[in-house]
Amino acid sequence: MILLHDIETPIQRVEWKLKESDGPQIHIKREDLIHPFISGNKWRKLRYVLEDAGRKECKRLVSFGGPWSNHLVALACAGASSGFATTGIVRGEPVDNVVMRLCTMWGMQLEFVSREQYQHKQEYFERRYPHSDAYFIDEGGRGELGMRGCMDIVPKGGLYTHILCAVGTGTTLAGIAKAALAQGMKAEGICVLKHAEGLTDDISRMSGLPATVHHQYHRGGYAKTDPELLQFIQTFASGTGILLDQVYTGKLMMAVFDLIDMGYFSSKDNVLVVHTGGLTGLISQLIPDQRNRT
Ligand SMILES: *Cc1c(COP(=O)(O)O)cnc(C)c1O
Repeated sequence: MILLHDIETPIQRVEWKLKESDGPQIHIKREDLIHPFISGNKWRKLRYVLEDAGRKECKRLVSFGGPWSNHLVALACAGASSGFATTGIVRGEPVDNVVMRLCTMWGMQLEFVSREQYQHKQEYFERRYPHSDAYFIDEGGRGELGMRGCMDIVPKGGLYTHILCAVGTGTTLAGIAKAALAQGMKAEGICVLKHAEGLTDDISRMSGLPATVHHQYHRGGYAKTDPELLQFIQTFASGTGILLDQVYTGKLMMAVFDLIDMGYFSSKDNVLVVHTGGLTGLISQLIPDQRNRT
């Protein structure tokens, strides 16, 4: 059984579009390079969860997500690599898309459920897998063990003044914030959901620390795109070689450039931006028939 392990990822300086200015230094932590499908923060979030499931001698990992979930793809691949069976419980009508097909490749059993059933995830799980050796993983890998894994993202050494990441459930930011404190770094999140101001308090509760989340960069809401965002992703890719996805890291990086323009950082700051991966999402965007995601 191969379980996920601790892993170091490279940090790269970003000079694109920054040469002329006297703004902060920007570096990017390439968590996207961890694995093509167990990408970025999903590896971090699953690491201790899989260890726990193994210790409890569970055979099947059961988790939840939407039909475009990076988390379900990561779980399907990690499960198959580590000898677990996997079930993905998917919100809404049955759909057939690239993400669902990838999950099926790794043997994930898919169950489509109504939004009503999805809202009561724990009950659904307990009814469906009553006294089995199935292991419950919450949507997006949120939770204590997921947060602990995300603490490993933060590099040691105190070179950086700030560390920034995208916020979905906020588990990643909570873990990063906990570990950043000891390194003297300020952790900040860019929220990709609309009307999600409540997440700031949720993250604070998870980490036990005050949380800084910027809520003005969701660009219309979760998974919503616009020509300016897609253009930014394209020019960033051609200028740096680094691909960003349109749901999380594209919005994150655009926000970082906006914060720089607004004079949010000083020229003495050294900002570390975490590339949390998610490139299966970009690939599906590039396939014409798959564009109308919800
Ligand atoms: C899932 C995901 C996130 C969100 O992480 P949370 O811990 O839920 O906030 C961020 N970036 C990418 C690329 C993701 O796939």
